[in-house]
Parts: sequence; C-alpha cells; structure tokens
Amino acid sequence: MSKYDYLVVGAGLFGATFAYEAAKRGKRVKVIEKRPHIGGNVYTKEVAGIQVHEYGAHIFHTSNDRVWQYVNQFAEFNRYTNSPVANYKGEMYNLPFNMNTFNKMWGVATPKEALAKIDEQRQEMAGKKPANLEEQAISLIGRDIYEKLIKGYTEKQWGQKATELPAFIIRRLPVRLTYDNNYFNDRYQGIPEGGYTQIVEKMLANELIDVETGVDFFDQKDQYLNDYPKIVFTGTIDRFFDYQLGELQYRSLRFETELLDEDNHQGNAVINYTDAETPYTRVIEHKHFEFGKGDKGKTVITREYPADWHRGDEPYYPVNNQRNNQLYTKYQQLAQQEPKVIFGGRLGQYRYYNMDQVIAAALKTVDEEFDN
Ligand code: FAD
Ligand code: UDP
Repeated sequence: MSKYDYLVVGAGLFGATFAYEAAKRGKRVKVIEKRPHIGGNVYTKEVAGIQVHEYGAHIFHTSNDRVWQYVNQFAEFNRYTNSPVANYKGEMYNLPFNMNTFNKMWGVATPKEALAKIDEQRQEMAGKKPANLEEQAISLIGRDIYEKLIKGYTEKQWGQKATELPAFIIRRLPVRLTYDNNYFNDRYQGIPEGGYTQIVEKMLANELIDVETGVDFFDQKDQYLNDYPKIVFTGTIDRFFDYQLGELQYRSLRFETELLDEDNHQGNAVINYTDAETPYTRVIEHKHFEFGKGDKGKTVITREYPADWHRGDEPYYPVNNQRNNQLYTKYQQLAQQEPKVIFGGRLGQYRYYNMDQVIAAALKTVDEEFDN
C-alpha cells in the first residue's frame, strides 16, 4: 500500500485546490501530471519579462466572494478588464456588443436609436423560437452583427455550421446599451501579477504534497488503482473508462507564439478575427495583460487556431451538446461504481468551466470529502 492518502491526477486548478485543502487537513498527497510543468491550462511562463499565457488568454473573473478571497491568498490581482476588439476584414469593432459596437456598425448614437435598429433587425425572427445558434444570434442582436462578428468566428471555433450548433453557446455573450467595453459582468476581475503558475506552485508547496511531472496515469492505471486508497482524477472521463460507451467530443487548439522586436504590436491584449477566411480566431499580445510590463522593444504574441480533436490531442473544450451531455451522464453512472475515484474539473466533469467555477467545484468536493 502507498504511504499517501490521495493520488491527484492532473496539476491544474482543480487538482491543486484539492491537494492544497487535503494537505491542510494533514493528508498526504501525491500529484502526478503528464505535462512537463504544473498549472494545467492556466500555466504562464516568463519570456522577455512578459508573462506568457501558454494555453490561451486567461482572465480571472467571478462574482463568487468565497472564490475571489480564496485566489487572493495566492496572488495579487491587477485591475485588468477584458475588452477584446473584433477585426472583421480590417474593420475594428468593440466587444462585447455595446453602444461602441452599434455606433460603428450603424452610426447610431443613443440607446434608443440602437434599440430601434436592433428591433428592426430582429423582425426576421419575429414569433419564431430560436432552434440553433444562428437563429439565437439573430434574435438577440440581428443579422448585421451576426454576419460580421459572430458567424465566421463561431464556425471556425466549433468546426460546425452555426445552424447546427446549440443556441446556448452564444448566450454567454453580453449585449449592452451602454458604452461599456468590459467583456464580463462579474463583480471581480483581474490578472495575477507575476502570472498564474505561482498560484498553483503555492498551492502545491506543502511538505505533505509530492509532485511528479511528466507522468501519465494511463501508463500504470491498474497499479495506481490498486495502490492508492483514493484518487482524484482530472483527465478525460471517457478515456478513464477506455471509451467503453463511446467517445465524448472535444475541441482542440493549436497555439503559434512569436517573440517580436517591437514594443506594441496590436494595441490590445486580445483581438478576435471574426471573418471566415483568417484561419485563427484570436491573437493575444501578452504584455497588455499587465499594462505593457516587459523588456523594452520586445513583445510576445500568440495566434490561436481552432482544431478538431482526435485521440492523443489536447482536449481544450468539452462540446456540451445534447448528445455529449447524455453520453456523459452514462459515464457518470459508471463513475458511481468506482467509489475510490473522484472525477473533477473541466475534463473529469465534462463541463465548460471557467477558472472560478473549477475552484468552486473543487472546494465543493473538499467540503463533501472532509467536512460532513
Ligand atoms: P486543466 O487545467 O486541464 O488541468 C488538468 C490537468 O490534468 C492538465 O494539466 C493535464 O495535463 C492533466 N492530465 C490529464 N490527463 C492526465 C493523465 N492521464 N495523467 C496525468 N495528468 C493528466 N477560464 C477563465 O476563467 N477565464 C478565461 O479567460 C479562460 N480562458 C480560457 C482560454 C482557453 C483557450 C481555454 C482552453 C480555457 C480557458 N479558461 C478560462 C478555462 C480554464 O482554463 C479552466 O477552467 C481551468 O484551467 C480548468 O482547470 P482543470 O484543473 O479542470 O483542468
Ligand atoms: N463569439 C463570437 N464572436 C466573438 C467572440 C465570441 O461569435 O468575437 C461566440 C463564439 O461562438 C464563442 C462564444 O461566443 O464560442 C463564446 O465566446 P467566449 O469569448 O466566451 O469563448 P471562450 O473564451 O470560452 O473561448
């Protein structure tokens, strides 16, 4: 038998939060991580004095007081407010959809004028219940914005026609009749000064926690199941069960990062490319997450290319459509027959979680495991 109380598979936010809380309660924890570093998808690395978000732009935002206080134990957050800009064939539009966007699109200046224009555009969907993402977008905001700012981006991102995608994806996006470019409605928002990796490092710093990177659970699955009294698994749940009920779907991404010899490449942290022809969805310029911090004359940019997922690729996004959610429910039933294993996080729970939701989910698991 192992000298540990828990094996945590995956050193992302879910695994690290669980390990931190377990060690605080005197439990001994082994963490294994298949990548060569800890942090999961929030991993950041310093290049030319700039914190580079290796797996895409990560902006922390939440309305959950408990979670906000919790992460602030591990880092100081700056006042960054996400205000992405959309580039449609060289025309620049503010996001999310707000008075700045409507002014640029239609020349309207007041909320009343904007609403009149949106209402006119929505007529197309009058009396019809939106059955897919295209119809949802048009009934929310009209065809002009749908065609220029939504259709191309969405079809690239998800690799499917907007008419075949579920409506809920677009409901995440706010629509505002104010001149407010803040992408999120949450009460708290920011970027940890000095990057995200330090948060996970601090969480795993307890002497009761041992971390090993470059180790894949599936190389010795049976051994781990045999040796450890309890396992927290944050990888893909369908792979855990050898895909025996079929594959869940994921979206993957490819990141292309460049160090450039200039101070300011695009003037904003995030620019979305919303046309169908540009093969990437967004370009991040990392230094703008920390208000230009970094070596003079240098900047780092990352282009984000959506990609189909096949076994062996990184599964960045769960695709929470009806078919996959139903299949996931069946995997959950299998999971109930594995009392030794707790499935957690974006991949273990197959949910499009943001960082704050992952921490909240991990704290809930901790409450269930230790405090009742
Ligand atoms: P992960 O971070 O994926 O961690 C799981 C870990 O388990 C990984 O490190 C993986 O390598 C490891 N692992 C998997 N299988 C095995 C195995 N077999 N053996 C060993 N190790 C294994 N959230 C926000 O709040 N704001 C944002 O702006 C934001 N932007 C995002 C942008 C992108 C491009 C993506 C992909 C996500 C974004 N998110 C954002 C979501 C955020 O990344 C997640 O909520 C969070 O990182 C999930 O944490 P996790 O621990 O569940 O999973
Ligand atoms: N979206 C869009 N145009 C944009 C940005 C987003 O059409 O410029 C749509 C797209 O379908 C995307 C969804 O809105 O999948 C949610 O966007 P969000 O920025 O929340 O996605 P994430 O950061 O999770 O990739």
